[in-house]
Amino acid sequence: MAAKPSQGRSRNRNLIQLLQPDYIEICVEKIDLERWWDEGLRGIILDVDDTLTLKNSALVEPPVVEWLKMAQDKGFKCYIVSNNRSPAHIETLSKLLGLPALARAGKPRANGFHWALGQMQLSAHEVVVVGDRVLTDIIGGASCGMRTCLVLPVTRELSRAKRTLYAFEKWLSQSFRL
Ligand SMILES: [Mg+2]
Repeated sequence: MAAKPSQGRSRNRNLIQLLQPDYIEICVEKIDLERWWDEGLRGIILDVDDTLTLKNSALVEPPVVEWLKMAQDKGFKCYIVSNNRSPAHIETLSKLLGLPALARAGKPRANGFHWALGQMQLSAHEVVVVGDRVLTDIIGGASCGMRTCLVLPVTRELSRAKRTLYAFEKWLSQSFRL
């Protein structure tokens, strides 16, 4: 798991730092839970679309299900905070995975993250946000004082518009690396 050197995870991060994830991984099931636990993390806020599943799909691949189970068995509090516009769809995934979930979260706005933090009863520095989008998951989580982990999108065959978006976010995140 790639990680940047510690840069202080305070709410004093400037805009450039907010764009840079603390961790980068190719997919959620590759995330080293032992390491996160040893680093003091106790909560994980998860994006759904293109992070846990294909967009609008209720099919979660077995390795992802297994990783989520390992995380919960380890003691992590796991919550879903999604921008998906269908509460019914997110409710389906919530039941399937046994995780509390919020739809229409409006990331990068803080409301959804604050909801999950309140439910977890953890401090922001004990929580990491996992997602595929720099301009929603990463900047939103970092703005709330949480650590962030960027994963590659589950979707491999991206539309041209999506490829352009991801490329732009990657450029934003890396071009100003300190
Ligand atoms: Mg996503």
